[in-house]
Amino acid sequence: MQLLLQFLAADSVTLVKLRHEAGVPRATHCLAGTTRADGGVDVTRRRDNVESLAGLPLWKDCIESGEPTLGRTANGGCEILFPLHGDNGHVIGILEVVGLRTPEPRELMLINGVLRIVRNHLALLDYGERDTLTGLLNRKTFEAQFEKLRRELAAATSAIARDCWIGVLDIDHFKAVNDGYGHVIGDEVLLLVSQIIQRNFRGEDRVYRFGGEEFVVLLRETSEVDTGNVMERLRAAVEAHRFPQVGRVTTSIGWTRIRLHDAPAGAIGRADAALYYAKKNGRNRVFQHEQLVAQGELEGEAAVLEHEIELF
Ligand code: GH3
Ligand code: MG
Ligand code: MG
Repeated sequence: MQLLLQFLAADSVTLVKLRHEAGVPRATHCLAGTTRADGGVDVTRRRDNVESLAGLPLWKDCIESGEPTLGRTANGGCEILFPLHGDNGHVIGILEVVGLRTPEPRELMLINGVLRIVRNHLALLDYGERDTLTGLLNRKTFEAQFEKLRRELAAATSAIARDCWIGVLDIDHFKAVNDGYGHVIGDEVLLLVSQIIQRNFRGEDRVYRFGGEEFVVLLRETSEVDTGNVMERLRAAVEAHRFPQVGRVTTSIGWTRIRLHDAPAGAIGRADAALYYAKKNGRNRVFQHEQLVAQGELEGEAAVLEHEIELF
């Protein structure tokens, strides 16, 4: 960052990491370096500061074209955006260079070299948030994002904005896969299942590997009927997939509504209870906690509470 600023004699260099939510690009991480009047450099780092880029036409152009994009700043300076391409070809980040003059070809080459290094650096910004085997978000990230979702729930003004759901998926008889085919094949199944899960959900849904062979998904602004359909579609997709060597693998899923005053453990607990019910009732099935309570198959939360009070 410092090197780029000084070599290019630029006013500022900003590296932004992008996430695409429902087709709308948002900046998630940001690393900015600015040259001070005394020639020194200030570097600032921001995280989880998710910003929409809708109001920045130059940024939009760069993301859509995937090409370096040149603009003019208000004071007649020069602004260049360099896109960073992810493995899937999408623009996953942008390096913005703002300065008083247009860089020379030699300098552009330097920037391109730096971009290659930066691309690896961007992957590292995620480090600690993602599971190393599947690349899914991990359990640590879940707690923070659950809290954020609950705050959104509290501020929700429409009925659909209050429709948030959590699902827990567990692979059936996964121990038998490990025992029968070994851990390497077991890991491959985990990876393939995680890819099926990711394909099944929208960009704005969040999928986590919660541990071993258990996955959690958070859905926002989705109707109860749609959520049920999505969960059932996921179960069917895993069942229909032919896994190399292992052949057929099935999953059980439990899901529940996220409530305004839920703690992460409370919501997970209800989804888990529905999942446990699926395991007890043949596996390869999907159950919703609220429905099981309504059918008298599971105790609701109030009943559980009374139970606990009785014990004391
Ligand atoms: P159920 O249908 O009741 O869920 O049966 P199960 O065999 O899937 O359940 P159990 O929880 O007893 O077994 C989970 C197994 O998952 C145990 C462990 O060997 C395996 N496992 C956990 N993490 C990993 C991993 O990262 N890689 C591999 N290969 N196996 C794992
Ligand atoms: Mg398990
Ligand atoms: Mg299992």
